[in-house]
Amino acid sequence: MDERSPITMIPGVGAARAAAFSRIGIATVGDLLRHYPRKYQNRGTLRALGEGPYESECSYILSVKTQPKLRYFRRNLSLLSFRASDGTGTCEITFFNQPYYKNQISAGATIRFFGKLVSEKGFLKLRSPAMDPVIPGRELEDIVPIYRVSEGLTQKTVRTAVTAAVKECVPGMSDYMPDSIRLKNGLATLQFAVREIHCPTSPENLEAAQKRLRFDEMFIFSLSLHLARKRMKATTAPRMSDTDISRFLDILPFPLTGAQLRAVNDICADMSRGNGQFTSPMNRIVSGDVGSGKTAVAAIAAYIAVKNGTQAALMAPTEILAAQHMDSLSALFGKLGINVALLTGSVPQKKKAEVLRDLSEGRIDLIIGTHSLISEKVRFKTPGLFITDEQHRFGVMQRAALAKKADDAHVLVMSATPIPRTLALSLYGDLDISVLDELPPGRKRVRTFVVDESYRERLDAFICRQVSEKHQVYVVCPSVEESDDIEDDPEIYAAVEYAESLAGRLPDIRISCMHGKLPSSEKDEIMEEFASGKTDVLVSTTVIEVGVNVPNATLMIIENADRFGLSQLHQLRGRVGRGSAESFCILVSSSNSAVSRERLEVMRTTYDGFKIAERDLQIRGPGDFFSGEYGIRQHGGLNFRFASSFADSASLERVIASSKELLGSDPDLSRPENAALAVKAAELAGLSHDTMN
Ligand code: ADP
Ligand code: MG
Repeated sequence: MDERSPITMIPGVGAARAAAFSRIGIATVGDLLRHYPRKYQNRGTLRALGEGPYESECSYILSVKTQPKLRYFRRNLSLLSFRASDGTGTCEITFFNQPYYKNQISAGATIRFFGKLVSEKGFLKLRSPAMDPVIPGRELEDIVPIYRVSEGLTQKTVRTAVTAAVKECVPGMSDYMPDSIRLKNGLATLQFAVREIHCPTSPENLEAAQKRLRFDEMFIFSLSLHLARKRMKATTAPRMSDTDISRFLDILPFPLTGAQLRAVNDICADMSRGNGQFTSPMNRIVSGDVGSGKTAVAAIAAYIAVKNGTQAALMAPTEILAAQHMDSLSALFGKLGINVALLTGSVPQKKKAEVLRDLSEGRIDLIIGTHSLISEKVRFKTPGLFITDEQHRFGVMQRAALAKKADDAHVLVMSATPIPRTLALSLYGDLDISVLDELPPGRKRVRTFVVDESYRERLDAFICRQVSEKHQVYVVCPSVEESDDIEDDPEIYAAVEYAESLAGRLPDIRISCMHGKLPSSEKDEIMEEFASGKTDVLVSTTVIEVGVNVPNATLMIIENADRFGLSQLHQLRGRVGRGSAESFCILVSSSNSAVSRERLEVMRTTYDGFKIAERDLQIRGPGDFFSGEYGIRQHGGLNFRFASSFADSASLERVIASSKELLGSDPDLSRPENAALAVKAAELAGLSHDTMN
C-alpha cells in the first residue's frame, strides 16, 4: 500500500465506505493521509460529577444506570436519554438526533464521557458527549483527533482507516523538504509530522507536527505564487493599446472616486504594457470594501477589452448577482453599442445555444454569468479579459478551471474581503493589488449598536417598526462551529428555530428562513423573494449572498455577534444602508469576554473595512485571514488547513522570508535537492511539472 493506492486497499473500507469517502474528496490513501483532523479533544482531564458544573469540556468515567430511552418529538427530531453515575454524583445524558446509540449503550456499562457538565433545574446534565468504552487492560487515548465527516462516515470509521493508513504508509514516505531547510527552521520530519498529526502521542509532539505542516503550507504557497507569476510572464494576452475611456466616463452617472481612478490606471498600465500585438497577461486583484464601487472598475476594464477588439467575461458567484450585473451594465453598455449577454443555469436551453453561438462567432462583446461560464461548451472568438466578482466564493475546482479557460487572456479579480495591506504585501508583493480604500461620497453610515439579551422585546418592536415603514430586515443567526456528525447540525437548528419563534412572536410579519444546507435553487428562490419584497424578514445563517443589493433593507440584526469574525460582521453590515433611508445594524451578544467586547467596540466605532481588518489582525493574529472569512487563496486554489494557526504576523513573515531566500539561491527550483519541492509547488500553482520549464 502506498499513497497512490485506492482507499479500498485499507482493511474495512469496502465500496459503500469508499463512496462515502469520495463525497469528501478522498479517493486514495494519500488523500486520506492529507485529511487532517479539524481539531483535537483533550480527553485527558478527568473530573468527578461531585465537583459540579465546569466551564470547559472534561472527561467523566461513569457507569450507565438506566436503559436508554428514545423519544421522538417531531419528525426527524429525537432525543435519547439515560442516567449515569460515578459514586460522587449522578447525571442525565442526552443525545439529540442520534437514535442509533440506543442499541450501543446498556445499563451496567462503564464509559468515559467527554463533554461540558451543566446544571439545569438542579440536575447535572451532559449533552451529546463523546464516548469511549472503558475496557480493562486497554488504555484510553487522551488526545483524540476529530475529522470532518460526511454521511455514511463516523469519527470512528475515519479514525480506524487513518490509523491503518499511517501504519502502512508512513514508514515508506520520503520527505520533499531538503534537510538544510528543515533543520534551519527547526522542523520535524514529514514522517513524524504525518504520524503525530493523526495519532498524537503528546501535546508537545502534536505541536511539533503542526509547526512542520503549517510551515510547509505557507512555504509551498509562497513558492507556488512565484512559479505561477513566472508562468504568467511566459504566456501572452492581447495588448490593449487603446486605453482612452473618456466616452465611458461621459455616460457613467457619477465621477470616479480617487481610488477607483487609481485602480483603473493600474489596469490600463497592465493591459497596455509593452508594444506590439501581445503582452504578458494582467493578473490583478481589486480589493475593495463593500460599496466601494468595484463594479464600475470592472466595467471600465471590460470596456477597454471590447474597445480593443476582444471579448470580456464577468463571472459572479450566484445567479442573482449575475442578473443584477446584467441589469446595471447592459443599460450602460447599450448606450455605447456594446453587446452584453447573460449566461446562467436558468437561461432556457434554446436561448443558451444562441448565446453560445453568438459568443463563439464574436457577436457578443461582454458575457456575464455564473460558473456556467467555465463550462467546456463556452468558446470565445477573441478572448481578452476574464473578471471574477467575489472570487473567494468560488470553489477550488472552479477557480482552477477558470485559470485554464483564461489562459490567453487578462485576469481581473474583484474581492470584497479587505486584506490588511501589510499582510497582502508580504504575500503578493506590491505588484498586483489595487486597493479601493475610499467610499463614493454621500454614503450614509449604518448606525451600529451592541446590545444584550435584555433588549429582546425592544428589538422585536424595532423590527415591527421597520416593517411597518415598509422596510425589510435581515437576521443572521449564530454561526455555530461545523458539527462533527452531520445528523446533528446545530446551525440549521438555530436558524430554523429562531425563525419559528420569531414568527410566533410577530405573527403579522412575513418571515422566511434560509440556511446553507438548502439546495442552491431553493436559496436563490428565497433570496429572490426577499429582494423583490415578498417577505419582510429574512432569517438566515451566513449564507446570505455577498454582494446582493436589497436597497429597501434597513435593519441588520446579528445574533451572537461575538462568534463572527470582524470582517464578516462588516460584510454583513454592508448588506444594509444601500438605499436612501437611515439604516441600522444591531449586534446582539451576551459575551462578557474582554476580547469580544473589544472587537464589538471596533465594529461600533469603525466603518472602514480595511481599518477593521487591520484591527482584527492586531487583536487575533493573522491566522483568521486564511480561513473562510477573508479567504486569502486567490491563487492556485489552495485550501489552507494550518495557516489559520499562525499566532502572529512575525512567524508568518519568517516562513515567507525563508521561501524568498530559497528562490534567491535557486530561482527555478532546478537543483536536484529541490526537485521534490518544485513538484509540490508546481502542483499547487496549477501547473504540471513539464509546463514549468
Ligand atoms: P461593490 O464594490 O460592493 O461591488 P458596487 O460596485 O455595487 O460596490 O457599488 C455600490 C454603489 O455605489 C452602486 O450603486 C454604484 O452605482 C455606486 N457607485 C460606484 N461608484 C460610485 C462613485 N464613484 N460615485 C457615486 N456612486 C458610485
Ligand atoms: Mg460588487
